[in-house]
Amino acid sequence: LEQTLSIIKPDAVKRDLIGRILARFEAEGFRIVAAKMLHLSEAQAQGFYAEHEGKAFFAGLVDYMTSAPIMVTVLEKENAIGDYRTLIGATNPEEAAPGTIRRDFALSKTQNSVHGSDGPSSAEREIAYFFAESEIC
Ligand code: ATP
Repeated sequence: LEQTLSIIKPDAVKRDLIGRILARFEAEGFRIVAAKMLHLSEAQAQGFYAEHEGKAFFAGLVDYMTSAPIMVTVLEKENAIGDYRTLIGATNPEEAAPGTIRRDFALSKTQNSVHGSDGPSSAEREIAYFFAESEIC
């Protein structure tokens, strides 16, 4: 079974969408094997999104990601990384397919409700960024 890192982002937490989004994960066959809430510091947000440093949207992304708490989870299923990207939809909610989480809940390209790892090496890095091995069930 494969694992991926999911983040329920500040816009969704602020709008009390955690329960509905977690229910979508479970309904699609993902098992939640780790979970925590945290309020990212600026340094934590910059470190998580280090690959985007220097881009025009980086400062706004860090401001947004530190604006309210987030919920990070590790999700497990066969083909978890690809299936989760399909479930959340395109980065821009206007381009996200009907029935995807971003199409249903996201507000904008930045405030797009959820994050998912984009491949096996980023999944490994991102899971380790937030969870010790002993915190994953
Ligand atoms: P995520 O990594 O969060 O799943 P993604 O893989 O769809 O999203 P990335 O290109 O990795 O998108 O960008 C990371 C995040 O940065 C996006 O989810 C979004 O919040 C923000 N972002 C990306 N591109 C833009 C942009 N052009 N304008 C504003 N915000 C952006």
